Amino acid sequence: MKTVYVDNNATTKVAPEVLEVMLPYFSEYYGNPSSMHFFGGQVQKKVDEARAKVADFLGADPSEIVFTSCGTESDNAAIFGTFDSYPEKRHFISTRVEHPAIGNVCTYLGRKGYRVTELSVDREGRLDLDELRESITDGTALVTIMYANNETGVIFPIEEIGEIVKAKGISFHTDAVQAAGKIPLNMKKSNIDMLSISGHKLHAPKGIGVLYIRKGAKFSPFMIGGHQEKGRRGGTENVPYIIGLGKACELAKKHLDEENTRIKVLRDYLEMKLLEKIPNTLVNGERLHRLPNTVSVSFEYVEGESILLLLSDLGICASSGSACTSGSLEPSHVLRAMGVPFTAAHGSIRFSLSIYNTKEEMDYIIEHLPPIIQRLRDISPFWKDYLKAQEKG
Ligand code: PLP
Repeated sequence: MKTVYVDNNATTKVAPEVLEVMLPYFSEYYGNPSSMHFFGGQVQKKVDEARAKVADFLGADPSEIVFTSCGTESDNAAIFGTFDSYPEKRHFISTRVEHPAIGNVCTYLGRKGYRVTELSVDREGRLDLDELRESITDGTALVTIMYANNETGVIFPIEEIGEIVKAKGISFHTDAVQAAGKIPLNMKKSNIDMLSISGHKLHAPKGIGVLYIRKGAKFSPFMIGGHQEKGRRGGTENVPYIIGLGKACELAKKHLDEENTRIKVLRDYLEMKLLEKIPNTLVNGERLHRLPNTVSVSFEYVEGESILLLLSDLGICASSGSACTSGSLEPSHVLRAMGVPFTAAHGSIRFSLSIYNTKEEMDYIIEHLPPIIQRLRDISPFWKDYLKAQEKG
């Protein structure tokens, strides 16, 4: 069966160039980079080279790059590492639309007696920066706000947020797991103290991440162990994956313009055609400040899960904005926070593209999705009610 993979915000294909540079470091050059002998030393050199590539990609200094096991670990390390450094402060600020790697830490710390302010978003998924300004207190240790949303692609004004936070002398962390490789990031020109990225969102393997920590930023290690990563993250380095991530960052830098142009053209084409061909369809989130590869689209009066399954039968892999919780379909916390109406939130689908997608694949989706929606609406009582209400005027 033909596979059309448009779920790249969930995970991406490991680029062949990435896999190629990784392979020798499993069974040929398998030394421990901490070892004193030449066999470890040659591996350490490769880890350093990869660190330099990641730093170059982020506009950072290599000493500011800490390798972790994933985006979730980077996010956790940023929050717990900050609280450990400021034991007298018990408040932090985040948003209602974060990934669970931040959102569930907020809930956890809330239960532990920390005060958490989760900023709201409007119908377009935008933050109110006045709410941020008003939420900062003397007891605030950290502001953690995602760079771009994984479901809608909406990009937050991170530089403006950084200025507000810096003016108050507070630590600022951003989860850039979805932004990295899709829009330019430059730590030199920013007020960001810490930033998380994850390898598997940019064509490196699953199981490798980075926490950028600005020189001078207060941080206590989350993973306590050996002296690795200059004492900021214990644990023997995941050498092949680090080398793979270095290559992926090098490729991501090279492909950045392509991401912003060719992929955006494909995404806009898909979006335009779906809006044109399928009535009662809406795009979720601000369309202007949005990742070039992402569209979250709602088809009113049908269920996202049913759409996904029928798409999957045709080899099309996307994801939905609802999740099955205790037997009922709950719209995602992101769409709920945005106030997307129930009838639309339920029928939401996210398409997320990568450099490997083609126009033919978009045409395949455009050909097959309209009849799927029609088929589901034909059996939807909500759609029937809607049509009756329309008839009555
Ligand atoms: N943050 C965001 C915005 C994400 O989209 C994800 C993964 O989907 C994560 C964090 C977690 O990254 P990882 O899967 O590497 O733990």
